[in-house]
Amino acid sequence: MNVTSIMTDLERKHPGENEYLQAVREVLESIEETYNEHPEFEKAKIVERMVEPDRIFTFRVTWVDDSGEIQTNIGYRIQFNSAIGPYKGGIRFHKAVNPSMLKFLGFEQTFKNALTTLPMGGAKGGSDFDPVGKSDAEIMRFCQAFMLELWNNIGPDTDVPAGDVGVGGREIGYMYGMYKKLAREYNTGVLTGKGMTWGGSLVRPEATGFGALYFVEHMLAKAGRSLKGVTVAISGFGNVAWGAATKATELGARVIAISGPDGVIYNPNGMTKEKIDYMLELRASNRNIVAPFAERFPDATFTPGKKAWSVKCDIALPCAFQNELNGDDAKELLANGTWCTAEVSNMGCTPEAIATFQQAGILFAPGKAVNAGGVATSGLEMTQNAMHISWSAAEVDEKLHYIMQNIHEQCVKYGTQADGYINYVKGANIAGFMKVAQAMLEQGIV
Ligand code: GLU
Repeated sequence: MNVTSIMTDLERKHPGENEYLQAVREVLESIEETYNEHPEFEKAKIVERMVEPDRIFTFRVTWVDDSGEIQTNIGYRIQFNSAIGPYKGGIRFHKAVNPSMLKFLGFEQTFKNALTTLPMGGAKGGSDFDPVGKSDAEIMRFCQAFMLELWNNIGPDTDVPAGDVGVGGREIGYMYGMYKKLAREYNTGVLTGKGMTWGGSLVRPEATGFGALYFVEHMLAKAGRSLKGVTVAISGFGNVAWGAATKATELGARVIAISGPDGVIYNPNGMTKEKIDYMLELRASNRNIVAPFAERFPDATFTPGKKAWSVKCDIALPCAFQNELNGDDAKELLANGTWCTAEVSNMGCTPEAIATFQQAGILFAPGKAVNAGGVATSGLEMTQNAMHISWSAAEVDEKLHYIMQNIHEQCVKYGTQADGYINYVKGANIAGFMKVAQAMLEQGIV
């Protein structure tokens, strides 16, 4: 494999799909050396096949808003790779959603799901629907209209969507309600992230953030450090940021920043239960602003227009959106003494930011390893649905913990360099790739 020629070819075929091309380049650069040691991969053209999704569904979603106006959005489901199991991955509702964004997410999901050790292929879906400022009734009507198109292409053993940015328990509920009505199938395993009274798994809402902190704990332990007393800056204030803030606080760290598109909250005294609960209220308000946190808690201050990375911290946890931490942010963090960054959002750091952290020799881990606890717990939800039972929170949490430890070990195995530095990006990419590639090889040319 020659990364340059594959990338030139992809850039020609998919011009302007920047997020997708960025995600593919990162993986190919990581695996190039290992790949070239396996002539059987080259012969079966594994990479050329793996970088293209199996199929993409695009559909119109028309719905009526509260003022009676007709609205039209575009919906997508990208079934990326089914080598190791049925398609699995979230649904994103965000005004910037386009095929490039969902292709990058579906591609990443394929390797992430492989890392979880559970049998799940990779997929992603979504819409350019903007939930900001929408009423609950509008959200419901949109979710129903979206499912009206999607239902026939998903199923518990075919493709299992879940939440992502802009899609939480409420949206999954509305989508499941419509799915049942259309499909006349009552198998709850068709979606994950469900409510606790109708097939949801305990710990699923917290799982992405909890899993991330379990991963960070292992990463720190390997480096002879711990979370006790360290300061953590988190971007975002949604479901993922909430889970991360909860577990970081529980494990003895002080969460001194959260942020939103409107600016950053500096929270020098760390989180309390009230503050963490309030994050959920902020998310549920659909206003997409973090400023009210400082009005509610006077020991916190709000600075408009600033990112979480402007706050001096030991550990940075991007928990919001792709490319939310760039090269300049990375330099600012390093100048302020940050010694660990773990992406909790998918592709939260730009390639320049990653290079800056790695060249400085600080701990850095990529989203597909750090945030895999979310989809892993979705996998556990599917297992419980298929067995018609539900596990206790302690059982799910223990399994999640074990999975994150395992992912950390895979990263160390494949990512430890000759000089002892652990390149978690390389480790995660090679470990995920090897599993998918082997499965594709054994299943022939399809
Ligand atoms: N959207 C989450 C992710 O990026 C979860 C996907 C799922 O649970 O299927 O991994």
